[in-house]
Amino acid sequence: MIENYSELFLKKMREKHLKKRKESNPNKPIATWVQDDIFLDKSIGKSLTIILRTVGCRWAYESGGCTMCSYLMDSSPTPISAENLKKQFDYAIEKVKDLDEFSVKIFTSGSFLDEFEVPREAKEYIFERLGKLEEEGKLKEIAIESRPEFITEENLKNIREYIKDINVEIGVGVETFNEEIRNIAIHKGVTTEDIINAINIAKKYNVGIKAYLLIKPLFITEKDAILDAINSANKAFEVGCSRVSFCPATVHKGTLMEYFWSKNQYRPPFLWSIIEILKEVKSKNPDKIVMCDTSGIPTKRGAHNLYGCECNYKIKNAIEKFTLTQDIDVLDVECKCRKYWEGFIEMEEKNIVPLGDKY
Ligand code: SF4
Ligand SMILES: [Zn+2]
Repeated sequence: MIENYSELFLKKMREKHLKKRKESNPNKPIATWVQDDIFLDKSIGKSLTIILRTVGCRWAYESGGCTMCSYLMDSSPTPISAENLKKQFDYAIEKVKDLDEFSVKIFTSGSFLDEFEVPREAKEYIFERLGKLEEEGKLKEIAIESRPEFITEENLKNIREYIKDINVEIGVGVETFNEEIRNIAIHKGVTTEDIINAINIAKKYNVGIKAYLLIKPLFITEKDAILDAINSANKAFEVGCSRVSFCPATVHKGTLMEYFWSKNQYRPPFLWSIIEILKEVKSKNPDKIVMCDTSGIPTKRGAHNLYGCECNYKIKNAIEKFTLTQDIDVLDVECKCRKYWEGFIEMEEKNIVPLGDKY
């Protein structure tokens, strides 16, 4: 019953916010860019990222979605056809026409493998074009994102009909391997069994699963968030994920996370916590690729240390360098505000509920 009330609350909050969603060109992706990246074989090269504009995540429409996610705000309020999606892809792929070797990452504001978002015709068009780039020897690897329920035999067989040999990786929002945190605090609607099934199917088709892990979901303390992230990453490698990508929480508009943050009952993670997590996980899994997203750092809504402290940008750069080089020594940053973090954790542990940190 309580769960129904909270779901109702989430849905109402989402619906209210969706009224502010703006129409935009259905033939242009939300964003697309080329950047330096690390490949699964640990070499460094260029990658093209395409964020396709779709109608958005089905889970967010049906249930109110995850408590930290506002992706639906980027999605299209009007239907997006297969034709629109093909044009979006054509527009983006132009950016790498002069490169000899690159990887392609195709994201949506939800699941690329869900036909509700990407109709089969558009999906096959994209895979066919990528298959040709593979044949020409230009495509190094591809990455897509999907909820685990769409990682099925049929969908993976379909990918491998076009993309024959190169690495294919699917990013899955695992968020945590603690099921209570995943389904109550994050409201993900995904069981650990769903995730393990997806990993096993993916293995059959030689497809990797990149686990996205959320650092500091709602309702848990900084200390528990550190432990949860470390345990979840170790578990992700143990069950066969190809790599781990940490997403330090950022407070997005129209989310339950923003609701609690604005009441001073949530604080995004400290960068000191992220450093601790990355060092611990990488030392335990030296042969694995451990990555960390830095978007939102070091704003008030994103991960930050003492607000305004000079170490914030230094650490942001160090995390970016770590993701590319996988060298934990680059994370050795010192600053006197580390004491503030230690004090915060100590005080929060004495409190009944997690603390905010607004000033
Ligand atoms: S995090 Fe993923 S599954 Fe959850 S609402 Fe956002 S897009 Fe949907
Ligand atoms: Zn500092």
